[in-house]
Formats: sequence, C-alpha cells, structure tokens
Amino acid sequence: MHSLTEYDKIVIKIGSSSLTHDSGLIDLWKMEQLVKQIANLYNKGLSVIVVSSGAIAAGMGKMKFESRPKEIPEKQAAAAVGQCTLMHMYEKFFSEYGITVAQILLTKEDMDNPSRRQHSINALSTLIKHGIVPIVNENDVVAIDEIKVGDNDTLSAEVCFMMDYEMLIILSDIDGVYDKDPRSNPDAVMIPLIESLEAMDRISAGGSGSEVGTGGMQTKLGAARLLSRAHKDLLIVNSRTENILNLVFTGKARGTLFKFSNRRNSS
Ligand code: GLU
Repeated sequence: MHSLTEYDKIVIKIGSSSLTHDSGLIDLWKMEQLVKQIANLYNKGLSVIVVSSGAIAAGMGKMKFESRPKEIPEKQAAAAVGQCTLMHMYEKFFSEYGITVAQILLTKEDMDNPSRRQHSINALSTLIKHGIVPIVNENDVVAIDEIKVGDNDTLSAEVCFMMDYEMLIILSDIDGVYDKDPRSNPDAVMIPLIESLEAMDRISAGGSGSEVGTGGMQTKLGAARLLSRAHKDLLIVNSRTENILNLVFTGKARGTLFKFSNRRNSS
C-alpha cells in the first residue's frame, strides 16, 4: 500500500481501455468516475496534468469501424472525430465540478525541437497558472507512424519530464508489475516497490523474458526508465478498482511504485 501524501504535482495517464466500451464508444460511467476523482485531487490543491488516450477508439465507435483501422488516413480520420468526442465529454464532466479544461495535442517534434518544446512548456505552464487542467494527447491526425511517440505511456512520461512534475500515475488495466505474466502464471506475485533500474531489469529479464512485454508492460517499463533519469516517480495502478485515485492518496491502493526520487512516502 502506498500513501502518496508527499506529492503536489502529478501527471495522470488514462488509457483507452479505461474510457471506452468494447464497442469503442465512451464508457460514461468510467469516465465520470475518473473525472470526479481527478476533480477531488484538484480541490485538495494538487496540480494535475491529464494525458488521455481514447481518440482513435472513440472515433472508431462513432465512424462505426468494426476493427481498429490499419490504413493511416483512416486512423487519422478516426482520431480527428474521436478527439472531439473525448474533449466534449471531458469538458462536460469537469465543468460539473467547476473545472475548466484545455486540449493540448503534442507531436514528437514538439518535444524534440528545443524551441517547440519551450513553447509547449510555456503554454502548459500558463494554463496551469490559471487553474486550468490540461488534457494532453498525441496529435494523431498529423503524427503518422514513422514520426510518432506512438503510445501514451511514453508521452505521459515525456510530459512529466518536460514539465518537471513529481510523479506519473498510469491508470492501467492491470494491478501493477508482476514477477511473471499473471494471465498464464497463477502464482505470479505483484511487486509493490521498485527502487532501481537494476531491480527493474531483473523483472524485464525474468520468466520467459517477453512475459512482461505483453499487455503493454514494455512501454510502461520504458516510461519508468525515462523518469528514472530525472529522479521522478511512477505509480502503476488498476483503473478498474473503484475509487482508485482516492485510494492512492489515502494509502490504500494496490499497485507498483517505481521510486526514483528521494521523496519520503510510506509504503
Ligand atoms: N493517442 C492514441 C489515442 O488517443 C492512443 C495511444 C495510446 O493508447 O497509447 O487513441
């Protein structure tokens, strides 16, 4: 159990599966619950940046695609439609709690090019200074595969790094990092705390090697590697757990904490 009372500036990454039904349409219940919890953290005085996926999934639902499109223009079209739906719903739910949100769509170039990076930092900082909650996604309409960040685990770690925030919370569809793939190993044990890259590498190399590579764990470990360089922390928890963000901040959440900072916290 981790009690994260020492953190003031956090990035929260919400994955597509935490927001949409299998049909691709927005799961209003899930989204509303997450927004309510984020609004509560904001009311507590935390500074929060949201990184949200779900544009392509929501666009697929609206455009009635049977499966995830393979052609780039189709993906771009789905993202263009879905991003509107996503922001429309975020705005609706956050405004119920008196919070204004802003859409920030970034590309890899915005983070790699020093001048564009600085402009992105300026825009985000100004929004935050005005009490607005930024909702970030990759600009999938213009960032085609070859020049993409590609996944929002990496994007959210980059945002945490770029904005000098203290911690990234990845809301995932599994409880945390296991020593073996829990889907094929009933005896798999979740690892609550990882404090060094060496410990992390032992997990990546453990079991049959690729096991933690399934279910998107590799990109999460990549995000941890990136954050370790800046001595920032990462927490992976399950978005399906009721009131998960509340539990995180009251010390009752199960999850894996990658602790690379010297911040004090009880675990
Ligand atoms: N940017 C993509 C979207 O909004 C998601 C990328 C990811 O899920 O990691 O659909």
